[in-house]
Amino acid sequence: MSNKVNGGCLCGAIEYQVKNDFKAFYQCHCKQCQVLTGTAFASNLFTHPDNIIWVKGAESVSIYQHPERDFAKSFCQSCGSAVPYVNKSKTSLIVPAGSVKTELTKELHANIFISEKACWSKSDVYIKSYEYFPE
Ligand SMILES: [Zn+2]
Ligand SMILES: [Zn+2]
Repeated sequence: MSNKVNGGCLCGAIEYQVKNDFKAFYQCHCKQCQVLTGTAFASNLFTHPDNIIWVKGAESVSIYQHPERDFAKSFCQSCGSAVPYVNKSKTSLIVPAGSVKTELTKELHANIFISEKACWSKSDVYIKSYEYFPE
């Protein structure tokens, strides 16, 4: 098991490295995460705020801070991919799990903010699955 995890954005402008030392791994179903991701939930890893090395593209990172809630999103200025950020209270670095490009050994802890879950969001067990787009 590697003690480092590498990640980055889709266009390749941003690359980062974090230690494989995560304190939590949540799928957040809150309304804000639905809007920001355009999907049913956000999958985020939580680690220490100083656990990141920007390998390249730190200057390509933009951040949106929600005016009221402790809620933010960092993203690549050219491709819009979610990338890691430190939360407003500076207690955690939040790493979007989809931006991780090496194998993740951390297992999901929980679904959170399930009371705000999208009405159309169903568990995988109930719907058909395809490897690619259906024919
Ligand atoms: Zn990018
Ligand atoms: Zn959320």
